[in-house]
Amino acid sequence: MSASAGPEIERLISLLAKLPGLGPRSARRAALALLKRRDQLLEPLSAALGEAAARVSVCSACGSLDTRDPCSICADAARDASLICVVEEVGALWAMERTGAYRGRYHVLGGLLSALDGVGPEALRIGPLAARARDEPVKEVILALPATVDGQTTAHYLADRLAGTGVAVTMLARGVPVGGELDWLDDGTIAQALRARRPA
Ligand SMILES: [Zn+2]
Repeated sequence: MSASAGPEIERLISLLAKLPGLGPRSARRAALALLKRRDQLLEPLSAALGEAAARVSVCSACGSLDTRDPCSICADAARDASLICVVEEVGALWAMERTGAYRGRYHVLGGLLSALDGVGPEALRIGPLAARARDEPVKEVILALPATVDGQTTAHYLADRLAGTGVAVTMLARGVPVGGELDWLDDGTIAQALRARRPA
């Protein structure tokens, strides 16, 4: 791989290569596609990136991403404020929303507890979740976490942490395959797992 493309294009390629799913080879192909389709791709993408960088922020209530704070879900009076669905990342929130099966609110943890990676409760948005369970009219917290060791460790920790708040803590049913990340599942599987949730 030579650096014959010039420093600006090499910089574009090396930034694209940091995106999930893109290695150096596919980053090179993506950069070339962008540069060859200036009007249809490069300039609209550049404008969209600029807009996202300027306007998207983290919702101070739930941790989702939106151009407004509180986000459009937290601000939506038609959503059921008695339900909070806890997800690892925003991608899982989007997956839940795609099902159209859920009308409550969310809480994005920003990761999972992991002894191996040294991620403790203070590194995640767990304190704010406990505060919401206490201060908001919440009746049920649904743990929509992956069926991995870290996902289940986190679920059990949250169930303990929320015990005694009077809030029911439930988990998605195991239509979710072991090791399954929510955003890889089809919408029907997620919707079914949501309906068949059980006490945590
Ligand atoms: Zn929000």
